[in-house]
Amino acid sequence: MSVGQRLVEVRGRVARAAIQCGRKPEDVELVAVSKTKSPDAVRAAYAAGHRSFGENYAQELVAKAAALADLSDLRWHFIGHLQTNKAKVIAKHAYAVHTVDSVSLARELGKRVAAELRRESMPVLVEVNVSGELQKSGVEPKELGEILEAVRAQPSLRVRGLMTVPPATDLADARRAFEALADLRDAHGGREALPDLSMGMSGDLEIAIACGATMVRVGTAIFGERL
Ligand SMILES: *Cc1c(COP(=O)(O)O)cnc(C)c1O
Repeated sequence: MSVGQRLVEVRGRVARAAIQCGRKPEDVELVAVSKTKSPDAVRAAYAAGHRSFGENYAQELVAKAAALADLSDLRWHFIGHLQTNKAKVIAKHAYAVHTVDSVSLARELGKRVAAELRRESMPVLVEVNVSGELQKSGVEPKELGEILEAVRAQPSLRVRGLMTVPPATDLADARRAFEALADLRDAHGGREALPDLSMGMSGDLEIAIACGATMVRVGTAIFGERL
């Protein structure tokens, strides 16, 4: 199947999942995760009408942004762990960052985005480690208030919400993680303060949407297996 055909399928999955829980399909943004895939794969998705793409390594995002600079309305979402020393290139090339996970990163990113003199503030989400797995990135739930405050202190950044990557164990654990993220949002000002929840991937996007996801990050189901 082509990337275009797969996109049609995934958009169908997103729409059905939204309708099934009484939500509108257009309230869930599909971020096509193109990590490890070629610029040509991104072009194929673009040709099929897609505009939002996700990358989780700064160098790879920069290289693809350069290779695809002619597609001026393409939006790169950074979804990987962001090192402070990469904040500058991400400020330049990314539309949004889903993975702010420290006060120092919020400050550095804010400063770098301000220096880019962008027309609009950068949408950012705070990544939360809701399952408490040791090797996982993201802030602990008890640190969330402090990080949100640090992002809000940066005029160049706009807090959009929370993001999580669930444990890779099973769908029941994924659901628990998604519910925990939604509960955390409620505890920190609700939809008004944090409109977006970035959660759900190829294997669990329906569950994430049922739990309130407004952004799903889908790689394999669109671009095929990664080698
Ligand atoms: C790779 C990745 C995805 C996409 O995962 P698939 O299972 O291929 O859909 C989503 N989110 C993050 C943070 C990723 O690194």
